[in-house]
Amino acid sequence: MADTPIPLEVRDITKRFGDNEVLKGLSLTAHKGDVITLIGASGSGKSTFLRCMNLLEQPNEGELIVHGENIAFKTTRHGREPADWKQVERIRAKLSMVFQSFNLWAHMTLLENVIEAPIHVLGKTRKAATEHARELLDRVGLLDHADYYPAQMSGGQQQRGAIARALAMDPEVMLFDEPTSALDPELVGDVLKVMRDLAKEGRTMIVVTHEMSFARDVSTQVIYLHQGMVEEAGPPEEVLGNPQSERLQQFLAPKH
Ligand code: ADP
Ligand code: MG
Repeated sequence: MADTPIPLEVRDITKRFGDNEVLKGLSLTAHKGDVITLIGASGSGKSTFLRCMNLLEQPNEGELIVHGENIAFKTTRHGREPADWKQVERIRAKLSMVFQSFNLWAHMTLLENVIEAPIHVLGKTRKAATEHARELLDRVGLLDHADYYPAQMSGGQQQRGAIARALAMDPEVMLFDEPTSALDPELVGDVLKVMRDLAKEGRTMIVVTHEMSFARDVSTQVIYLHQGMVEEAGPPEEVLGNPQSERLQQFLAPKH
């Protein structure tokens, strides 16, 4: 049997906004079932790194290989951009992203949110998409909220709905950008629980988070970014349990 392709490889990505180089050569390999957490101070480049992975931002240099497919770039007078936007669409369907907030479309019910892309991007029938959506909503504990609009749900429920919507694409890799940061503290636990379950069932995930206990318990790898560079990376017991750089030690020190 042929080896299955690696879900995501990022090689030596750089990103500039004008003269400001915010990513300075970042690489990462996510094998099947890996949970990679990205940590670092505000402004260190975590979101930009994640956004480059599914081409919401265009890296200036570097390579992206998604499930064995190398993203093609071309250079125009506006700079570097994907050579084939159809390819980008295909790639985005494989890398579902869950953002900090404003995830669900406000004018659609939860169920409609979840079935939208499977119908319009994957070409599923409404019936098949609805069946799958109901299973996913059940899994995140929201089956009874299928016909609610986002405004009728708590932030934590909306975020679990957003995870169900991401799962409906059956993604190769799930990208999370601080999914619990905008939530009231009492709602964080339910969302982390769903994410822990996903990790347990072997989902490949890349998670930007400040939840260190999640990072410690669930990650296969932790990457600490500082000013667009990897300052330290490795298994959580090393990076979080025995940090080498003074900067990381300070970052992890309890705030008071
Ligand atoms: P983090 O998610 O770690 O807080 P970001 O990736 O959001 O960091 O930002 C990294 C740096 O890139 C910051 O200095 C930020 O101001 C800058 N940046 C992010 N997005 C843009 C943008 N669209 N235009 C200009 N600068 C940006
Ligand atoms: Mg960010």
